[in-house]
Amino acid sequence: MIIVSACLAGEKCRYDGSHKERQDLLELVASGQAVAVCPEQLGGLPTPRPPAEQQGEKVITVEGKDVSHAYATGAEVALREAHKVALKSGKIIEKAILKSNSPMCGVGKIYDGTFSGNKKEGDGVFTKLLKKNEIKVESRD
Ligand code: SF4
Repeated sequence: MIIVSACLAGEKCRYDGSHKERQDLLELVASGQAVAVCPEQLGGLPTPRPPAEQQGEKVITVEGKDVSHAYATGAEVALREAHKVALKSGKIIEKAILKSNSPMCGVGKIYDGTFSGNKKEGDGVFTKLLKKNEIKVESRD
């Protein structure tokens, strides 16, 4: 079973209410080979929502609100939900395909915390949790 960022599977769950659908990933989810999760929404954040970026150990919105707790909770809930779905079909989570640059799902590169579009090296909050659980991660734009 593959975890996929829900916005890549066509869900309109991005901060601005849009999606970044990739047909091949949508098909993986539709065929039951992948499970789509949006950890930001699962952390209780609304859609649309103010954009947020990692600043040091915290995640802060463009309005200056600290949403670190929602991010940490959402990552935990998303992994738990994915495990549940996998278990139901007798599978294990093999890897994750995650939306690039996101403060939650980014792999290797994330926005740098200045809300300028610039990026820095680093992983999203969900990505870090998956790596900690020894789940392989791939980035997709
Ligand atoms: Fe949700 Fe991750 Fe997509 Fe952000 S990048 S909208 S957290 S699935």
